[in-house]
Parts: sequence; structure tokens; C-alpha cells
Amino acid sequence: MEKYVIALDQGTTSSRAVIFDQQARVVAMKSFEFEQIYPQPGWVEHDPAAILTSQIDALREAVRISGVPVEAIAAIGITNQRETTILWDRETGRPVYNAIVWQCRRTAPIVKRLCDEGLEAHIRRTTGLVPDAYFSGTKLCWLLDTLGLRERAERGELCFGTMDSYLAWNLVSGRPHVTDATNASRTMLYDIHKNDWDETLLKAMDIPRAVLPKVVDSSGVIGMLDPEILGRAIPVAALAGDQHSALFGQGCFEPGMMKNTYGTGCFLLMNTGDEPAQSQNGLVTTIAWRIGGKTTYALEGSVFVGGAAIQWLRDEMKLITRASETEVVAQSLPDNGGVYMVPTFTGLGAPYWDMYSRGTIIGLTRGTGRAHIIRAALESIAYQSADLVFAMASDCGRKPLELRVDGGASANQFLMQFQADILGCKVVRPAVIETTALGAALMAGLAVGVWKDMDEIRRIWAVDLSLTPQMDEATRQSVLAGWHKAVSRSMHWIEEQ
Ligand code: ADP
Repeated sequence: MEKYVIALDQGTTSSRAVIFDQQARVVAMKSFEFEQIYPQPGWVEHDPAAILTSQIDALREAVRISGVPVEAIAAIGITNQRETTILWDRETGRPVYNAIVWQCRRTAPIVKRLCDEGLEAHIRRTTGLVPDAYFSGTKLCWLLDTLGLRERAERGELCFGTMDSYLAWNLVSGRPHVTDATNASRTMLYDIHKNDWDETLLKAMDIPRAVLPKVVDSSGVIGMLDPEILGRAIPVAALAGDQHSALFGQGCFEPGMMKNTYGTGCFLLMNTGDEPAQSQNGLVTTIAWRIGGKTTYALEGSVFVGGAAIQWLRDEMKLITRASETEVVAQSLPDNGGVYMVPTFTGLGAPYWDMYSRGTIIGLTRGTGRAHIIRAALESIAYQSADLVFAMASDCGRKPLELRVDGGASANQFLMQFQADILGCKVVRPAVIETTALGAALMAGLAVGVWKDMDEIRRIWAVDLSLTPQMDEATRQSVLAGWHKAVSRSMHWIEEQ
């Protein structure tokens, strides 16, 4: 009998369920959105009950529309929005507060306190992260502080978790309190070298171990799906943060292999093998996955404004009506006409890290037109991504060989060709663009033997588009120099507070 694997993809705005067949092709997919709660400026929350309902509904609906018999479902994998934090009562399972979403800035003062206490270098070294309010540890600290829950936490009456933990607790019989190594690596509490919670950081945030989940492999059976949900107990066999899952779903199993997701922002991850690379360029070191007790590491960097630059052209500048129009417009020009856009609406991330940079369009002449601006916006997505690739390559001493791509803007062939041109390496888009879901499905299938090993996965992983660089080296060097000059002009623009 044909076997199927389901991925539950619990994202920031929606919960999805995707069913894959043994060839790793999408058979059916369903998603439900849920509300974003903004209690005050800079704060973002989710209602855990709404997330749970949307996720279970998506699972049931996907199975129903697929027509796949539940007996044929071999495993379920979970992938999730990272860092979003929930604290719940071990007895009743009831959350003590809304989920605090990764974007929420409320814990910035806690991060500042940790840095004032001289812990910045320690955080960088042990957790691989750059201290920031994104990560879940300070959110947990805030909950314990604000709600006065330290004693209850110490007595083991409360459970902390990210979305993977919360779903595992609620969907798996026996209520396991677990998280996987990738999600743990985003807490800013986890020593990624020792694979254990870090005592210094637990102490600094006064977090008792009794509240923390057990850290398990990313691929491995954690228990059986509660039979109430689909009428049958099915192994739940993978947990992984979304970007890590996408790296796996892109088949980036070897050191040096990397993927970029072109969405509102861009997320670039490079597999660095069994050694964590310490970045000299402001990138984050993270756990790519842990399988069979063996940890694989990755470097991660992100572009704050990626596809959002195209949304800006559409919504604010009214230069286009649909994002896809940009492809033909950019192709109508032989080159960029010397025009560069640096879309640093909120500051500049790795490898520059300048919060005082602001957006600029530079190199304008009397002949500059709408097409140049549109092309410059598209090119900016590729340049910013290239800066991350070059930073990663320099951190781990490897020449980039190939970039695997996904996300909404990877549909733009001009952008993908330009990316290949300025990187000077191949750009490859897979047949299954749902790489986040695919990664969790592959890890789950691997755990229960749907796929024998990574080699088998390599064989079924299929390419849709493969682009090789066409630009001559002199042009490449010249446009990169133009970009870097434009970046330098955007820097230190607003007054430093
Ligand atoms: P997210 O998951 O962050 O919501 P998606 O992966 O759905 O993002 O991608 C949407 C983003 O990609 C938007 O910012 C949009 O402007 C951009 N985008 C979508 N299609 C294209 C295209 N053909 N060319 C350029 N940008 C595009």
C-alpha cells in the first residue's frame, strides 16, 4: 500500500497541514488563519486555543479532501514558527497567558539587562545567537516575572514551550513535554555545543529547570497522535523550527549547501556540518537538526526587507499593481542604468548591522525611469542575499557552489537569474516549493522507515529550475562595487540615539 506522511506547519499567520506521498509530492494541503493580537505598540500575541483549533482543523480537512485513508498515513511531522512562547499549567493544560510571538519587543529591557551584566559574549559563545528580544528565553523570563509564577515553576507545576512543544503536548497521547534541538537553539538558554540548557543563563533569568521541556531529536517518534483527532493513533515523528525544516526540505544535507527563502524578508541558512561555525560577520550559529543523537549545525542570516520592497513599490509608490509584473519590467532594460536601491526601511542587518541606516535610491540621472526603480528594487533583494552568502562563505572558508531557493519571490525568473549572476554560482529551485512542510514530512518519514535513509531522500528530491551564471566577471565586480557604495551611502543616516 502507498504510504503518506503529513506535515503540520504551524506558521505566524496560519496553521497548515500538507500531505505528501512516498515520492515527496504534495497530495493535499489545507490552512486556516488565526488572529494577530496587538495589545500595545510593539507587542504581538496569539491565542493558543485558536492556534490549536486552526491546526487540528487544517489536519482533518487536508485528510478529508485528499481522500487518503487514515490507515495509509505513516507518520506526522511538526514544524513551527520559531521562538513564540507559551507557558501552561501541567495539571490542566491551560495556558497562563497568551502566546508571546517572536516579533514582540516587550522583553528588550531584559536583553539590555543581560548585556549590562556582561553576558553578551557568553550568549554569543554558548547559544550562537546575537542577544535579542526575538528569542524565547527572555519571553519566558517576562512571564515568570510579570505573573509572579517563579515558585509554581520551581514546583514543576508549569510547562514552558514553543509551538512545537505546545502542539506535541496537545496532540500526542500521554502529553509529552518536549521540544527538539532546533527549537531549543532559539531560546537563548541552550548551549548548542553541549546540547544542554545553560546554567549561567538560567541563573541570570532565574528560570528553574523544572519548567523546561526535554530536548529530543528533530527526527524521531515522540509518541502517537491522540486517536480522537483522526480516529487512529499515528506516530508523531518529527519536530523542527520552520527555517531548519526548510533547509532539510531543500535537501541541504552536506556542509556548504545552503537555501534562501524569498518572502517578505529572506532567510538564508547554510549547513556547516558537525562543527558550529563562529561568525565574524554578525550571523547567527544554530542547530540545523539533530538526528540519531548527532547534531548538524548551520549559519543563519536574514534580510529584513526582501519581497517587502516589492510590496512597497505596489502599495506606497503605486509603480506596479502586482508583484509578478516586476519580472517583465526589469527584463525590458539591458542593465540597471547605474541605479541602486537600498531598502533599509528599518535598518541594516548582517553583515553590516547598522540600525541607523535608512532606505535610499541613488545614481539617478535625467534618463532614469520607472523601470529602473523597479529593477533596482528587485536587484536589492539579490544583493542583500548575496552579502549574506559571501559572509557565510568567509565564516566557514568555503566557496558557494549552489543556492537552493524557495518562497514567493523565487517565482521571479529575472530575480533568480540575477541572483545566480552576482553570486557566480548555480541557483536551483525545487519541484516542491513547500520546503518547510516537506522538511518536517521527510524527517518524520525517515524516523518510521517510509524513506530508508538520506540517500533515498536525495534520490527523490526533484529540481524544477536550475540557472547558471551568465554575467561576465568584470560586470559582476562592477555592479557589486556599485551596490556596496550605495549601501555605504545609506548608513548612519538617522541620528544615533
Ligand atoms: P511570506 O511567507 O513572508 O508571507 P511569501 O513567500 O508568500 O512571503 O512571498 C511573498 C513576498 O514575495 C511578497 O513580499 C511579494 O511582494 C513577493 N513576491 C511574490 N511574487 C513575486 C514575484 N513574482 N516577483 C517579485 N516578488 C514577488
